[in-house]
This record gives sequence, structure tokens and C-alpha cells, in this order.
Amino acid sequence: MKIPIDLKKGDVTENVPKEVIVGIDLGTTNSLIAYIENDVPVTVKSIEGKNKLTPSILHFTESGDIIVGNKAKDFMISHPERTIFSVKRLMGKSYADVSQLNTSIGYEIIDEENATLVKIKIGNKFYTPVELSSEILKSLKKDAEKHLNTIISKAVITVPAYFNDAQRQATRDAGKLAGLDVLRIVNEPTAASLAYGIGLDRTLQSNVAVYDLGGGTFDISILHIEDGIFEVLSTHGDTFLGGDDFDRAIINYWAEKLNISVDRLKKETNLNQELRLKAEEAKKVLSSKSEFTSEISGKTVSLTKDKFEDLISPFVEKTLKSCAQALHDSGLKGSEIDKIILVGGSTRIPLIKQKLETFFGLVPDDSLDPDEVVALGAAIQADILAGNRKDILLLDVTPLSLGIETVGGLMDTIIPRNSKVPQRAGRQYTTSVDGQKNLRITVFQGERDLVEHNRKLGEFILKDIPPMAAGFPKIEVHFILDADGILTVKAKELRSEKETSVEIKSTYGISEEEMALMLIESIKNAEVDMKKRALLEAVNEANNVILAAEKFLTQNQEILSKTEYDQVVLLNNALKSSVQSGNKDEIEMAMKVLNDYSSPLAHRALDVNIQKALKGVKM
Ligand code: ADP
Ligand code: MG
Repeated sequence: MKIPIDLKKGDVTENVPKEVIVGIDLGTTNSLIAYIENDVPVTVKSIEGKNKLTPSILHFTESGDIIVGNKAKDFMISHPERTIFSVKRLMGKSYADVSQLNTSIGYEIIDEENATLVKIKIGNKFYTPVELSSEILKSLKKDAEKHLNTIISKAVITVPAYFNDAQRQATRDAGKLAGLDVLRIVNEPTAASLAYGIGLDRTLQSNVAVYDLGGGTFDISILHIEDGIFEVLSTHGDTFLGGDDFDRAIINYWAEKLNISVDRLKKETNLNQELRLKAEEAKKVLSSKSEFTSEISGKTVSLTKDKFEDLISPFVEKTLKSCAQALHDSGLKGSEIDKIILVGGSTRIPLIKQKLETFFGLVPDDSLDPDEVVALGAAIQADILAGNRKDILLLDVTPLSLGIETVGGLMDTIIPRNSKVPQRAGRQYTTSVDGQKNLRITVFQGERDLVEHNRKLGEFILKDIPPMAAGFPKIEVHFILDADGILTVKAKELRSEKETSVEIKSTYGISEEEMALMLIESIKNAEVDMKKRALLEAVNEANNVILAAEKFLTQNQEILSKTEYDQVVLLNNALKSSVQSGNKDEIEMAMKVLNDYSSPLAHRALDVNIQKALKGVKM
């Protein structure tokens, strides 16, 4: 029995059952859901009961039903156009990103004129990868709800360390669509480390290599863990390398032995499927035995462990090259790695463990199931967020971008959303007016291009900048975000060493809901914002050019003929009126015409050795 005691007051606290927050490994090949039971993370068996893994496969029936998991897998060969796999590869991707994929999959990826993100056509309907992933998540959620006999509404979902912002956002959206409040998106290697208990003791620090070899992807990440903060020092890999390649190598080997041509394999889908299943079976058997023998279409096939290792060795070598690269990028020496963690079903292969041991000079830790380790770690992270492990503070990313306002009301992001904390970043700015003495620095939080749509966190003024020409001062703005989410902003004029700073509480007073709303708004308005931003940028640039042209005219009157002088005035006036028009293309055209005409003049001016006069003039 457990009696919860409030350590501050000494009271016995009321024993209210805590809401379950699940951890989800949304994989390319397989997905899993886990939760904490009696302080230990456990994974949930899928309803089909076969095992804990839910193949990340969806089948759309003619009648419009969606089947997820093992049952959907059966349709991969018979109904490839209605059976979707590897959706994770499409998350947050544009058509251009995935064009190389189209040849290797049975279903159709659609490129809409304006939409930058891909869609998938099934029958006569279109689905986004977010919607498809949400179906996998719904299925996992249902399994867990049935198992726990409770409604689940909160989750932590993992993503590869190399996922960019769009891919992370897409994953978050998929969760939302599945009816889950996604409390945190966690890096897979971070989750795997947590499952091994790394980082739970804040007084210890370590460097961990997480080697993840799944069905179709490989990645290696080097993490530095200190004070409860997981820092991804480097990550490397191959998004088209995995267990599927090993299966294919076996198929080709057997096909050759059985005199089956490539054409026949393509045509006879049943034979192909039979070979594929047998190949995977052989591969798995050879992880614990030295020989595999079976029958395919009445003929005996066999494979020894030695031959298998020959077949896969080029792939394994490739992963080791990635390890070397990641190690190099991390700035650590091999001897500084304290632990190697194995993730993904394919790391069960003994050859891989041996090669890693030789490479790192360290025996990889395989004490946890490599299929489950990411989901288990996600469940631990969920437990921490639920407040069940008060001793641990895992503030690993900042939920919204932080930046400052620049000319024209544009948001200039300095620390992007999802950056790990603590974090420091800086950028240089300058003045836009000659002799400008003060510079107002206004700090905002949010994803929109215009600051008016973001949340203002505070402002301060950098005072007493010594008088200089516009564009001459070098003002460095530094953002320092500490592990508790406290942002300090510093501004310094480098030529005069004038410095000012202010401390801002970045997450104070903003709820998850508000945060979600801000993100949704930013997605909805992305296109409008982009256009507005493009126009504003053109206007800003045009204004600079106009000022520069005027300066140029006053400073170089003597070297210009009257025609040239008048023409520059004329073109500059045309640019001024184009700015009034609010038409980006018109502004850019006017700018180009003025630039084209005046740049030979500027060159001449340079030749006449008045370089100094031209400083800061953009032509
Ligand atoms: P993903 O992260 O891409 O979703 P998984 O981590 O679930 O993928 O790994 C799936 C891969 O692991 C498949 O290619 C599967 O054949 C392979 N695999 C599973 N068990 C074994 C085993 N015992 N030996 C070798 N490979 C295995
Ligand atoms: Mg995986």
C-alpha cells in the first residue's frame, strides 16, 4: 500500500487517482503505447492480441472503414493502392521533399497546386499524413483505453532527433486530431535514455550514443545529459536504411538460388509476399540460431548465419560510417561515450552488436527490449509531466519561438520554437536613421510573421548610442533562456560597448490552450503571413534603396552628368510611388530598374576614389 504524504506539511494527502498520461512511439514500421503501472513503465498489447507492436499500416476498405495494424498488413500485397505504410516519412513534407518516394510505394501521393504539404489519394478521397498518423494514434489510444478501462486524453509522443519543426508540428497535430492533448514531443533517443534511467539522477552526467535501426530508417544520436537536461550533440543517419534492406537482400539471394527472375517476382505477388515473409522469418531466427531452413513453393530454402552476415555487411558498414560522423560532429572522443543504447528491432542482430562493440570499445546495453524502449521512455516522460516524479525537472524545449520586432513590424525569431533549453542565441542589428541615439527592443513570443499577432513579453531601450551614420552601429542582441524558462535579453552596441539587459519570464501566464491556439493560428495564416512578410520586406528594402540613392546623389553630384542625375531622381521617384502602390512585384521591378541604372554610376564613383562616401549605400 502507498500512503502519499505531503512532505512540506506532513499531512497525509488525499488519495485521488491520477489521470493516466500515455507515452507513444509513433514509428515508421511499428508503433507502441505505454504507461506507468506501479511506478514501472509497461507497454500495452494491441487489441488483436498478437503482440505489443502495432504495425504502422492503414488499410482503407471500399466501404470507407479504416483498418490499422496487423490486419492492415495483410492487404499490403493484395490492395497496395488502398494500403498505406511509412506515413511517418511524409510528415511535414512538401511534394518536392518526397518525390523520390513515389516510385517505391503502391499508393498515390498528390501534389496540389498551392498546398506545399503532400496529400495521399485513396479511392477518390485525399488524406494528409497528419490525418493518417492520427488514425494510428486513435487505434493505439483505443487499445490503451480498453486495457486500462479509462478514457485517455493526454500523451507524450516521440519523434526522431532529426525531425525539423514542420515534422514535429505535424506530429503534434496528428495527436490533437486523435483527441489527444500532446503535452510534449520528445526526441526518440532522449526517451530511450530515460527508459534506461539515464538523466533521472540529476547529480550524474553522461554521454550516451543511441543507435536506432528500425525497419526502414537508421539514426545514431550522441547525447550529453547533465542536470536533467538532454542535449542532442549530434545526429546522423540514413532515412532509407533498415531491416527491410536485409529482407530484400535475402529475397534476392533466394530468388537467384531458385532461378526466379526479377520479372516473375514482380508479377507473382503471392510468391513475392511468401518470400518476403520467409526472409523476415529467417532474419529473425538467425538472430538466435546459426542456420535457417524452410520451404518456398515446395522447394527447400536455407540460409546460414555466416551467409546472412555477408549479405547485410555493406549496410552495417554504412551505419558505422554514420556513427563515426556523429561522433566527430559531437566533438567527443570514442572513449568519452559512457553508454551505447540499442533501439529498433534490427539491433537484435548479433553482428550489429559485435560491430558496435568494436567501434566504440564498449559493450552496447541491450537489457531492455529494443522494440519497446522508446515507448517506455515516453511513458516515463509522461509520468514526469504528470507531476509524479517531483524531483525531476525535464524542461527540454521552449514551446514557442522568441524574437524581437524589426522594421515594419516583422517578427525576427532569435530562439526558434522547440529549441532545447538552456539556450543562448544572438544576432546583430543596426540603426535605420543617421545619428539614432536610442534603440527600442521589443521582445515577442509566437510563430506568426508579424509581431502584432504574437505575444509581447516586454521591451527596453538601448540608450545613448553615440551618433553614427545609419547602418554603422553594430548592435548585438542576445537571448539567454535558462532551464526554468526565464529569458534574459541583452543588447550591446559593440563600437561603444553600451549595454542594457532585462529579464523576462517567457512562459508565465500562458496556458497550454493559449499556446495551442497560437500555433493553430500560425498554421492557418501561414500563407497570408508569408505574403505580408514578403511585401513588408520589399518595402523595407525599397526604403533603404531610396535613402541610399538620395545620399548618393548629394555626395556624387560632381561626377554625374545632368542626364544621369535627373534619371536617378526620376527612377527613385518611380520607386517611391511603387512603395505607395503596395504591390510587391511593382516594388521589386522599380528597385531593379533603379539598381541597374545606378550601379555603373556607383562603380564610377568608386573609381573616383570616394569609397568613403559610399559606405553604407546599398547599390
Ligand atoms: P521502426 O522504428 O521503423 O518502426 P522497428 O524498431 O519496429 O521499426 O523495427 C522493425 C524492424 O526490426 C523490422 O525490419 C523487423 O524485421 C526487424 N526485427 C524485429 N525483430 C528482429 C530480430 N529478432 N532480428 C532481426 N531483425 C528483427
Ligand atoms: Mg523506431
